[in-house]
Amino acid sequence: MCFRPAGVEIDLNCPHCGKKLPVMGNTVLKKCPFCRSEFTDEDMANFNAQLGAPAAGAGAPGAPGAPAAPGAPAAPGAPGAPKAPGA
Ligand SMILES: [Zn+2]
Repeated sequence: MCFRPAGVEIDLNCPHCGKKLPVMGNTVLKKCPFCRSEFTDEDMANFNAQLGAPAAGAGAPGAPGAPAAPGAPAAPGAPGAPKAPGA
């Protein structure tokens, strides 16, 4: 068992054909160049886990999206009773 220091290329293997996938930095291919199968989100999350990168949203239990914008801003209150004109 050998421990790789950070910054060194990590070998990933295609979950479909088992061939070694080229990894450039933290960029992982979305498609296997050998068997040409596209990787699922689960595969990508697995790759990212091996790369030590946080899986963006993958695996997280339903990340909440941006809160919906509220409707139109509340209408300003009704104007108060007009003041009596200055005498
Ligand atoms: Zn493959």
